[in-house]
Amino acid sequence: PYLLTDQGFVNRDELRYPFEERGLQFGDGVYEVIRIYGGQYYLIKEHVERLFRSAKAIKIKMPFSKEETYEKLDELLKQNNVDQDAKVYLQLTRGSAPRDHAFPKDVPANLYAYVQEMPRKVDALQQGVTTITQPDVRWDYCYIKSLNLLPNVMAKQEATEKGAFEAILHRNKKVTEGSSSNVYLVKDGIIYTHPATENILHGCVRMRVEALSRQLGFPFIQAAFSLDDIAEADEMFISSSTAEVMPVVKVDNITVGTGNPGPVTQQLQQAYEKDASIPKSKSI
Ligand code: PLP
Repeated sequence: PYLLTDQGFVNRDELRYPFEERGLQFGDGVYEVIRIYGGQYYLIKEHVERLFRSAKAIKIKMPFSKEETYEKLDELLKQNNVDQDAKVYLQLTRGSAPRDHAFPKDVPANLYAYVQEMPRKVDALQQGVTTITQPDVRWDYCYIKSLNLLPNVMAKQEATEKGAFEAILHRNKKVTEGSSSNVYLVKDGIIYTHPATENILHGCVRMRVEALSRQLGFPFIQAAFSLDDIAEADEMFISSSTAEVMPVVKVDNITVGTGNPGPVTQQLQQAYEKDASIPKSKSI
């Protein structure tokens, strides 16, 4: 398997970083996770645009132009003969330099990307998942897809220990997003989700969910809902590149709606499959 790096394509075992690497020592970098269905990227433009936005926000210079990034990401799939469902993880850091909080001068960024096979979570997509709630203790710039994931890691671990799929985060009882997903509530055929402010990651799938909701005729309201609204919800779901449109059937001890994936969520799941060109034979 080959990795894409800022130095060209290398074998997986060949990539080495010095211990003084800013991603390792400071989490000083940004990343993307891009979904692939049947060997084809899904929402590639959205991911590349966000990567460049994140890099710019923390003043890291991408080693490639946008044009080159698309070409190299395509080449990554070709080099690895990818024709199945998979994901690409791409990481960009401020580079390798003696440890100092301030930026090093004239040090090139480090970039690598690898592809990994990833089947769809078919059972969970059909049955829905359980979740817990956790306070959102992250910083004010969650729109940057930063490598600083400790609060997300702690929240997801709490969920995992409780047998839940995701931790739903809230600031002062207002739901922001999940530890690695965006969160939605459905009430009377209307979809509510936290507005795309600096306090949440602007999910690539979230963007498509908004467009697909409008196409299906469901009002899509960008207004934060509160933990208290969950007891009254008809449906809830989360979205991400790896979880797709995932029904949420339980939040802490509260059963959401009927306790089964609801009709609005299911219509969005079907629309998602069409949007991602997932063949009928592979639909949920
Ligand atoms: N919110 C957070 C905190 C995430 O880490 C992610 C992605 O993993 C998302 C939302 C969903 O983003 P996307 O739809 O671009 O995968």
